[in-house]
Amino acid sequence: MIGIEQLTQILDVLPYPVFVKNAQHQWIYGNAAFEELMGHADYIGKDDRAFCPPEQVKAFRTADRRVFAGEEVVKEEEIGSNLFALTRKVPLVLPDGSTGLVGIILASVRPNAHPSDGGTPDDTVSLASGDHLRQLNESLSKRTLELESSLTIAELKQQAAMEVAHTDTTTGLKNRLGFKDKLAATIREAEETGRRFGVAFIDVDRFKQINDRFGHAAGDLVLKTVGKRLCELPDVFAVARWGGDEFVLLTELPNIGQNALVQGFEEAHTYTFRPIKSDHGRIEISGSVGIAVYPQDTTYPDDLMRYADMALMVAKRQGRGKVLSFDAKINNALSRRMQITRDLPGAISNNEVRPFYQPIVCAKTRKIQGVEALARWTHKDLGPINPEEMFEIAHGCGLATQLDARLHEAACRDVGPWLNTGAIKYLSLNISPMDIVSIDFADRFLAELARTKTDPKTICLEIVESAFVDNLDTARRNLDRLHKAGVMIALDDYGTGFSNLRALLELPLDKLKIDKSLIQSIGSSYKIADLMTSIMQLAGTLDVKIVAEGIETKLQSAFVTSAGCDLMQGYMFSRPLSFDAMDRWLAVHQKRVA
Ligand code: C2E
Ligand code: MG
Ligand code: MG
Repeated sequence: MIGIEQLTQILDVLPYPVFVKNAQHQWIYGNAAFEELMGHADYIGKDDRAFCPPEQVKAFRTADRRVFAGEEVVKEEEIGSNLFALTRKVPLVLPDGSTGLVGIILASVRPNAHPSDGGTPDDTVSLASGDHLRQLNESLSKRTLELESSLTIAELKQQAAMEVAHTDTTTGLKNRLGFKDKLAATIREAEETGRRFGVAFIDVDRFKQINDRFGHAAGDLVLKTVGKRLCELPDVFAVARWGGDEFVLLTELPNIGQNALVQGFEEAHTYTFRPIKSDHGRIEISGSVGIAVYPQDTTYPDDLMRYADMALMVAKRQGRGKVLSFDAKINNALSRRMQITRDLPGAISNNEVRPFYQPIVCAKTRKIQGVEALARWTHKDLGPINPEEMFEIAHGCGLATQLDARLHEAACRDVGPWLNTGAIKYLSLNISPMDIVSIDFADRFLAELARTKTDPKTICLEIVESAFVDNLDTARRNLDRLHKAGVMIALDDYGTGFSNLRALLELPLDKLKIDKSLIQSIGSSYKIADLMTSIMQLAGTLDVKIVAEGIETKLQSAFVTSAGCDLMQGYMFSRPLSFDAMDRWLAVHQKRVA
């Protein structure tokens, strides 16, 4: 698509004088041929009165008014003292919404002019005699034919309108529509020439935070600067703003492999995402990139865009500032994700997602104290689904709360008999991070317990640190209320998060669960003993019990026991088991400890 500048150039190349008048009959534009016709006089903002005798002005205005009223007028006019012209005038809506007109002088004659005067433009029919009108008509029909077979005013108008529709106003780059057009044209050309090219989706990381922190003007500056830098990249032949903080570009691909492609983009990334100087000082920016290649990945435009977008999604999930190109792995991962997303709601309502139970034992006596309920779902085609993946997807589609509520209710019903007989003392339930900071969470959770007639004192709620980093106050209010009702609170995965000491002090915690990744470094890192000692000291200060998670070996269990851990959980005692299997496990366990 061409820009306004190119459009002006086109108009200047035309041999026909073209002008635009506003509703006050003032000229607001003239192309080069019109400027020449006007003898390069200063006519912009002036009207015909400055150049023509009153009777001509009257005639012009009568015609102009018909055009302003919506009519297209083709008329012979005498202009000035020595020029007869055939002018076509077409209504034109101006940027302020008012109606003006565009005029084009299709042919003109100077009856008394002579080539030696030097003032005869190429498109002027010079006549010495008075039969200029016949000549004018002949000239006109020739010109009109030429004009209509090449570029008509309507086409020019259409091009200008297209230009506006295809441009993003903030960055001046193409928008989605403009980009799709360019991509389609590039593919058409590539089909004939065998050209290869890459499509890249680029996303400014944490753009919302930039906007929130520095204001929208700074946000716009970031978008403009990133857009400009992308245009400056070598081999890039189209850049567009896809929307929000997303850009998309087309780039030439010499015959290089996938690695070189990613490497090239990594260099481009370094160039594009340099800090930006603004009134607020330096703004640090980073971006993620997803790439797809024509024709290697696909030859369909929509799929190319989709694949590049998929690669971007995966890149973003891997952290900030990543460049990834689409491949089979990404394709599989995303179709798997789509399948899970599609089937999860049905699985929840059909109770296909079930709690399994893993024992938590006393470190000293090895007697079972509680069980942790862990979600299990076996998908009919994909097999067992990792609960972390399942909860991430559930969170993404707003199903996590419902899924947890179902699982908690099922677990409370399952575990009731074990609690009643004293086979276990408590049930540990996991909760999705977002729930703890939702205002009515404590009430909903207690209502869940009441519905299943579960004593809150037999429940331990496992929370993770990421849950309250952004909103400690709401988390504390919910947890205080639950704690008062008797629910125990455990901080899960301790040692992997932010170790927010203020949160540890303020929240009503009963247990810290040391993450299995720390337990796994027992035997391979000297520092683990010191670390364990300091965690035990912290536990003493906070008056909480320590649970060591992920105990798989005798070495690990001996280590944590001697370090002073209170409770242990891990494959060494049992993997998570279905209700029936856990029921059998408990029977065997009870006999063994008795
Ligand atoms: P988590 O709460 O920290 O659960 C402990 C994870 O460690 C479980 O993984 C468990 O199967 C695993 N594990 C236990 N013992 C061992 C061991 O000895 N070695 C190793 N390598 N792993 C062990 P799982 O079941 O895959 O669950 C992963 C995470 O998913 C959980 O981590 C929890 O954050 C989340 N999750 C599971 N069920 C639920 C649920 O019902 N609701 C919510 N919100 N999250 C859940
Ligand atoms: Mg847990
Ligand atoms: Mg854990």
